[in-house]
Amino acid sequence: MSTSPVPEHAPSTDIRTYIRALPKVELHLHLVGSAPLDSVLELARRHPDGGVPVERDELVRFYEFSDFTHFITVYGSVANLVRTGADIVTLLVGIARDLAATNAHYAEVTVTAYSHLVSGIDPAELAEALTAGRKRALAEHGVVLAWVFDIPAGLEHFSEEKTVDWVLRYLPEGSIGFGVGGQEHRMPRASFRRSFDRAREAGLHSVPHAGETVGPEEIWAALRELGAERVGHGVSAVRDRDLLRHLAHENIPLEVCPTSNLCTRAVTDLRDHPLPVLLAAGVPVTLATDDPGMFHTDLNREYLLCHEVLGLGRGELADIARTGVRSAFCPPDLRAELLTGIDAVARSGE
Ligand SMILES: [Zn+2]
Repeated sequence: MSTSPVPEHAPSTDIRTYIRALPKVELHLHLVGSAPLDSVLELARRHPDGGVPVERDELVRFYEFSDFTHFITVYGSVANLVRTGADIVTLLVGIARDLAATNAHYAEVTVTAYSHLVSGIDPAELAEALTAGRKRALAEHGVVLAWVFDIPAGLEHFSEEKTVDWVLRYLPEGSIGFGVGGQEHRMPRASFRRSFDRAREAGLHSVPHAGETVGPEEIWAALRELGAERVGHGVSAVRDRDLLRHLAHENIPLEVCPTSNLCTRAVTDLRDHPLPVLLAAGVPVTLATDDPGMFHTDLNREYLLCHEVLGLGRGELADIARTGVRSAFCPPDLRAELLTGIDAVARSGE
């Protein structure tokens, strides 16, 4: 048995404490997939005809995904439980509680308005519920929530138009971005251009998913056709040196979600995750959870995995936290406050 040598300048805090202490933002998480298990159980019991398990152990098993298509199917079942404004508020308060526990102060939550509208929520009630949930998230947990509305690619053909029409009509307080999620195969990013044009004209930032389960050509399409200012996932950029150079040169961040990639089988082994290659190429990388409730993770765990599995040091973790804050479409005073907080933790943790 051997003892590990103590570094000459051993950090004064352990790595978990250090990660917890870093003030953070979450830029890629979906309303339904982020909901804590207890919130989903509450909705499953509220709507027992929904086909979603009402017992915790069964729900955990329900959340074991065989591939991306299976994940989308399960996601749809849980989304169908969200039928009233009160259901939306239940989810948002639970998400804010979990975010606060990881020392995340600001989050851009992707809301698939279409799914909730087809589940029967009145359009105005949906907008009011987001505003009410946002107020409670701030008042009860000190977390600022902002909204990204996404087209659920792969659902009915009218989901796109219905999404944009609802977004432009209601634009609830905190609306900052427009995206596209769901299937990527046979769903070329360029085909969503008209909707993105409309959303961008209304002042929303372009933050589409691209390059999660398909190749770098779709990331190029997101940049060129949809005016992407950040890219959801974008991990397949590692296959294209020109694209890596472009992302680094134009300072376009990727929202990287390691555990999500593993759970949906976009990567087969976390040790082979492209995140270190992206960083080495100078691409701005933010860390996110995507669907922490469904993937049994949280933001601090993603940082810890980067340290333990991908070998990132404390300084690199602080840099990722800074990139997140700089890439957020948050108020400037909040950005400045969070950056100051990160600097303080980074100094103390050296
Ligand atoms: Zn996502």
